[in-house]
Amino acid sequence: MELTGKHALVTGGGTGIGLAIARALAGAGAQVTITGRRQNVLEEVAEANMYPAAMDVTDEAQVVQVIDDAVAARGPIQICVANAGIAVGKKLHKTDTEFWRQIMATNLDGAFFTIRESMRSMLTTDWGRVIAVSSIAGVRGLPGGGAYSASKHGVIGMIRSISEDFMGQPYTFNSLCPGYVDTDIISRNVESISQRSGMNEDQAREVMVNANRHKRLIAAEEVAAAALWLCDPNSGSVNGQEIQIAGGKV
Ligand code: NDP
Repeated sequence: MELTGKHALVTGGGTGIGLAIARALAGAGAQVTITGRRQNVLEEVAEANMYPAAMDVTDEAQVVQVIDDAVAARGPIQICVANAGIAVGKKLHKTDTEFWRQIMATNLDGAFFTIRESMRSMLTTDWGRVIAVSSIAGVRGLPGGGAYSASKHGVIGMIRSISEDFMGQPYTFNSLCPGYVDTDIISRNVESISQRSGMNEDQAREVMVNANRHKRLIAAEEVAAAALWLCDPNSGSVNGQEIQIAGGKV
C-alpha cells in the first residue's frame, strides 16, 4: 500500500497498539504525527516518517494547538487514529465519580476532541480515514469494567453516528475492537487482577489469555494490520463498522 503524501495522526502512538499502527502507516510512506503525554517516550520510539508531539487528549486546548501545529508542519490530517486510552478494571458499584470521569475524559472525550479537530483539515481534502480503537468491551459488557466498557461503547456510538453524517463522501469511520492485546495495559491488568483476586500473576495472565476466543494474547501488529487495511483505497466501502480482533466473534 502506498500512503506517501498522506499525513496521519496516531494518539497514544508511543507505545503498544498505537506504536504498531504508527509503524505500519510510516512503513507505507505516511508522515505520522505520534502523540502521548510523555515526550521522552515518543522521541525514543520515533523512526523515519514519525514525528513526536506531546499532547494530553483530555486537554481540549492542547489538542487544538498540537493538531494545528501538526497540520501547519505536515499538511491536512487524512488518517486519524484515535487510540489513546486507559483501561482500569473496577466494578461499577464500587466506581467513584473521579475514576469514572478520568476514564471518560481519556477514552471518550479524548477520542472526540481528536476526531473533531483532525476533521477540520481532513475535510479540506478529498480522502480521509478515521479509525477509533475501541475494544470488545465496547460491543459487550466487560465484567468488572463498567466505566471502561461504557467509554468504549461510547466510542463506537460516536463512530457509527459520524459515518452516517458523511455517508457517500470520500471519508470512512470505523472502530477496531481488540480482545486482549499483549501491551503494557495487560501487564498492569495482570498486577491489578492478582492483587484483587489473590491469584498469582501467571494465573491472572491466564484469565486474559482465556478471554480471547482463540486462547492466546493478540499481538499489537495484528491490530495494526487491520488499521492499515482500512487505509487501503479498496477499503473505502467499509464504513461505520466495528471490527473485532479477538480470535473470534464475542
Ligand atoms: P498502552 O498503555 O501501551 O497505550 C495507551 C496509550 O495511550 C499510551 O501511549 C499513553 O501514552 C496514551 N495515553 C493514555 N492516556 C493519555 C492521555 N490522557 N493523553 C494522551 N495519551 C494518553 O496500551 P494499549 O496499546 O494496549 O492501548 C491502546 C488502546 O487500545 C487503548 O485505547 C485501549 O483501551 C485499547 N485496547 C487495548 C487492549 C489491550 O488488551 N491491550 C484491548 C482493547 C482495546 P502516555 O502514557 O505517554 O500518555
